Amino acid sequence: MGNYSRQPHSVAYSEVLRALLNKRGLRITSQRQKILDILKDIPAGEHLSAEEIYQNLLEQGENVGISTVYRALHLMVDLGFLRELGLAEGKRYYELNQPFTEQHHHLVCIQCGSVQEFQEDLITQIGTQEAEERGFSLMNCQFSVLALCPVCQVELDN
Ligand SMILES: [Zn+2]
Ligand SMILES: [Zn+2]
Repeated sequence: MGNYSRQPHSVAYSEVLRALLNKRGLRITSQRQKILDILKDIPAGEHLSAEEIYQNLLEQGENVGISTVYRALHLMVDLGFLRELGLAEGKRYYELNQPFTEQHHHLVCIQCGSVQEFQEDLITQIGTQEAEERGFSLMNCQFSVLALCPVCQVELDN
């Protein structure tokens, strides 16, 4: 366990992506590529909702509808490129999945919504084991710890 600082994404990212899509007979459309680029560039600990990704695309001058963004996100979640996270307040957020980012988990403040990421191999091991024992094939092992951050604890005391 320990704090986790995300490695800068390497040059191989585009090639890995193309290879994975090719394997499934899919092309990397410019919109899918742009969505992945947006998610690739956010700082560790930040996650974007579909609406925020949509806004970001509009700001880049993309001519795209929100339903297209939802469809693209769901497709990429199904393909395993993205992880969909229900971090707080029932909102859904997205981030890159392996192999684009390391497997990690989330510590979420239920008051202010701040998120810290951490790595803990034991969680992944248990998830893998539980899935395999039941004949499931593991897609994503994501652990969210809901808590109160130090700042919010102080505010609640006052
Ligand atoms: Zn994350
Ligand atoms: Zn907080």
